[in-house]
Amino acid sequence: MTSAFAPSEQSLVASAQELPAVDVAIVGAGIVGLSLACALRNSGLAIALIEATPYRRENTRGQAYALHQGSRYFFEGIGVWDKLMPHVQPFEVVQLSDADCPLMVDFYPQDLGTAAVGYVAEHAAIAETLQGILESASNVTLYCPWRVVTNEVQGDRAQLTLVSGDPTEAKVAHLAARLVVAADGGKSPLRQQMGIEPKGWKYPQSCVVATLDVAHPQPVMAYERFWPTGPMGVLPLPENRYRVVWTLPHPEAEAVAALDDRAFLAKLQPYLDPQMGEITAVSDRFVFPAQFMQVNSYAADRFVVIGDAAHRCHPVGGQGLNLGLRDVWNLAQQILATPLEEIGDRHHLMQFHRQRWWQNLLTLAFTDFLNRLFSNTWWPLVAGRRCGLWLLRTVSPLKRLVLRFMAGLLLPLPTNCQFPRRR
Ligand SMILES: Cc1cc2nc3c(=O)[nH]c(=O)nc-3n(C[C@H](O)[C@H](O)[C@H](O)COP(=O)(O)OP(=O)(O)OC[C@H]3O[C@@H](n4cnc5c(N)ncnc54)[C@H](O)[C@@H]3O)c2cc1C
Repeated sequence: MTSAFAPSEQSLVASAQELPAVDVAIVGAGIVGLSLACALRNSGLAIALIEATPYRRENTRGQAYALHQGSRYFFEGIGVWDKLMPHVQPFEVVQLSDADCPLMVDFYPQDLGTAAVGYVAEHAAIAETLQGILESASNVTLYCPWRVVTNEVQGDRAQLTLVSGDPTEAKVAHLAARLVVAADGGKSPLRQQMGIEPKGWKYPQSCVVATLDVAHPQPVMAYERFWPTGPMGVLPLPENRYRVVWTLPHPEAEAVAALDDRAFLAKLQPYLDPQMGEITAVSDRFVFPAQFMQVNSYAADRFVVIGDAAHRCHPVGGQGLNLGLRDVWNLAQQILATPLEEIGDRHHLMQFHRQRWWQNLLTLAFTDFLNRLFSNTWWPLVAGRRCGLWLLRTVSPLKRLVLRFMAGLLLPLPTNCQFPRRR
């Protein structure tokens, strides 16, 4: 078996320092890990949040997420939404269409009974807001840059081994926790170590992501247009900007992303809504391969996986982070309702697994279905899906049902996370 330590780190293991034990150790301070720490900040539990890479704004350029109504309720529940709201762009219409077919389906806030259909927020805005809130949370200790290399269960504690990422001082440390939560992203080395298997496949497609500046204010509309090569999502951002997620077969995606600004815009323009008007600038392009994955189990002894470490879906419909936030909501609620000495018990963690596995599978399967249905030129399928769009446009209850599902409101919402615990 290969060691999780680099050869230069192995000599340090014997002199490892002991960090103060905690109730919950969260590995990974992406949006999902940060959100869990925020949800538990008033709990009285001792929390460690461990992040391998120091956060840098420039690493997250071009990253923005469509947040659905369910995620808004979650952020409200944990008392974060008010601080996030100034950085969020609500959108008033979402439009679906099939390539250049003139049949469009428009979703409005009144279809949901809410003030907006959804929201868009940039990674930097969400991360910095959550980090700011955690600065005053006395029960949350941030270890950054520290990389978790191993996790071993010893009796009623999990024992993590961490390696410092500070280049000036090579250090190894141990940290004991009742429960380890892996929010360490799609590759999750911890998940593999705990024998949790990811199941799924890679799509033959990648997403090219770019931000566009437009000359004039536009209606705040998001749209998803399905082309035979893959869907294209366009999301409004604050300050007359749009974020484009353009799915293409891998070679085309790489080629398009490598074009200079002018050639890229010339290639992109025919796919955009003409209402967007003149584009004045385009950001660097980033390419993300699309993947479908869900773990066979969300839980092991004193261990759970959440967020991209547990599932990844096609970006069509912008569901990935929203699912991760729902994991956080369910897990935080369960941790807060569990007696202290039982936190990390397999019995409770398996309940979390059973709840999240099938709920997430429904959304993962729906995004897969959408991508397969529309990335296809077989005429009976084209005719069938256009009839489907017509039905969606015409039959209001069907339209509301689909929108409620995509907004995370069809399945029962967890109750509020705000109930402080005394130790
Ligand atoms: C093109 C594209 C568009 C998307 N659009 C949307 C959208 O509109 N809406 C939406 O809801 N979702 C969207 N998603 C999905 C979304 O990006 C992810 O679901 C989300 O970013 C996952 O967050 P996370 O915190 O789980 O993982 P990550 O953001 O990957 O964070 C994991 C963290 O763990 C740290 N880490 C890893 N290993 C260790 C270790 N050993 N020790 C310590 N720390 C460690 C990493 O440094 C990282 O900071 C999109 C995805 C793609 C590819």
